[in-house]
Amino acid sequence: MAKKTPTEKRTSVLVVEDEESFIDALSIGLDREGFDVTIARDGMQALTLFDKATFDVVLLDLMLPKLSGLDVCRAIRAHSSVPIIIVSAKGEEVDMVLLLEIGADDYVTKPYRLRELVARIRAVLRRREVHEPVPDADEEITLGPIRMDIDARRCFVDGEEIKLRKKEFALLRLLLENPGRVLTREVLIDRVWGSDYVGDTKTLDVHIKRLRTLIEKDAKKPAHITTVRGVGYRFETAKS
Ligand code: CA
Repeated sequence: MAKKTPTEKRTSVLVVEDEESFIDALSIGLDREGFDVTIARDGMQALTLFDKATFDVVLLDLMLPKLSGLDVCRAIRAHSSVPIIIVSAKGEEVDMVLLLEIGADDYVTKPYRLRELVARIRAVLRRREVHEPVPDADEEITLGPIRMDIDARRCFVDGEEIKLRKKEFALLRLLLENPGRVLTREVLIDRVWGSDYVGDTKTLDVHIKRLRTLIEKDAKKPAHITTVRGVGYRFETAKS
């Protein structure tokens, strides 16, 4: 059980889901994890509920009656920056790039484990918290085995310093600043290289490969910098 003081506000989740088996499991499971759960059983109901109350995070199934998850996501994004996690069914054809473009923060595929879902929810909430404040002058990022001293431009893995080239440092920093979040190839290239990016799209992969050899225990089975096929990369603190 997570440590909680009685006065602490519970995180409210709007769960948009039409499958009863998932609704039951989520209501019970998320409540136990300390979330306030509100259920919407179709897209229209989701928007109605969203207008009436404030939610900290939205868990949004793609295939819904009345209004699709994509339309709900677009409608919410038109006037809110609430974190949205998309849920897709296994085998469902999903355009990940489109999801990210319309403002989804993350996605999970059914069937998922509650533990994974809760970790994703907490990750998007954390990102919201850390994204708001003005960055510290002596900023330091510590995630998993990695500690990055932004100012000194130094990076350590399990306490051992690794030498990073300029672009590698920028790339790793961007990944670390967005833990658990899928960063598309386009975003990574744009933010790290900008107009400097020349040559084919392999440049990014070459840099990722080198980062993996430096930070992963087994670069062939990366636990931290994971590939989201056809979309981009994501930094995971620990793979369970
Ligand atoms: Ca559904």
